[in-house]
Amino acid sequence: MKQANSAKAIKAALVTGGSRGIGAAIVERLARDGAAVAFTYASSETAALDLAAKIEAAGGRALAIKADSADEAQLRAAVNRTVDAFGSLDILVNSAGVLEMAPVETFAIAQLDRSYAVNVRGAFIAIQEALRHMQAGGRIVTIGSITAARAGFAGSSVYAMSKGALASMVRGIAIDVAQRGITINNVQPGPTQTDIVPAEYVDALVNMLPVGRLGKPEEIAGMVAYLVSPEAGYVTGASLTMDGGMTA
Ligand code: NDP
Repeated sequence: MKQANSAKAIKAALVTGGSRGIGAAIVERLARDGAAVAFTYASSETAALDLAAKIEAAGGRALAIKADSADEAQLRAAVNRTVDAFGSLDILVNSAGVLEMAPVETFAIAQLDRSYAVNVRGAFIAIQEALRHMQAGGRIVTIGSITAARAGFAGSSVYAMSKGALASMVRGIAIDVAQRGITINNVQPGPTQTDIVPAEYVDALVNMLPVGRLGKPEEIAGMVAYLVSPEAGYVTGASLTMDGGMTA
């Protein structure tokens, strides 16, 4: 009986957008904490396969899945492939996201549609599909952005809108799934050292940050690790800010 319990202690996780940046740090952290981790990517195949190989070499279980978050069928298939591979789904982290910036006057509607499709619609679809498999104790985390609370820079209207939508969606879903013993939370990073931050913005962003530096992907992953842990069972529907004091 004891053995059955310890076998069940291996959690199965899926991270969307896990090939690079914050998503990759989350994949590594969850794997280090003992989870079997699947993750999606859109185009960075080499980075994705290297990350999966690194985790496997360290004795973990990892599965890289090519799935565009803007594509409903690919996303649902990624969730189902994870369940097929690991036998369950205990943790879903939506980290896939795109940053499109332009002044409102010239913002291309195709880019708006793409931002919505990946950042909002993709997260909703992944959550909906994951909830078909999750049991009590399930954990969902979305990676939003501090721009949901404070746009902060010119050209950010669509990105801020998408991250605001994510925060609102998480509040609604938290109530829907609370009775099932499943939590969902939204982590809102401030500027964090990844490819998504244009190099020419770094100095200006650091000037806006009381801590005097960008965040590290590993720091965001640490918050996610807490939120998916059993002790975070009373945290749900929350948007948790990690922004080096930017909005303090
Ligand atoms: P990166 O650009 O470094 O990484 C983005 C990741 O998302 C990559 O793995 C990428 O895969 C994947 N991705 C992008 N588009 C898609 C798609 N359509 N389908 C599937 N995967 C996709 O960004 P970050 O790590 O910085 O961003 C991760 C999340 O954190 C995003 O949601 C972002 O909005 C958010 N965030 C980031 C902040 C920052 O300052 N870095 C601050 C606040 C929030 P591939 O390489 O294959 O395209």
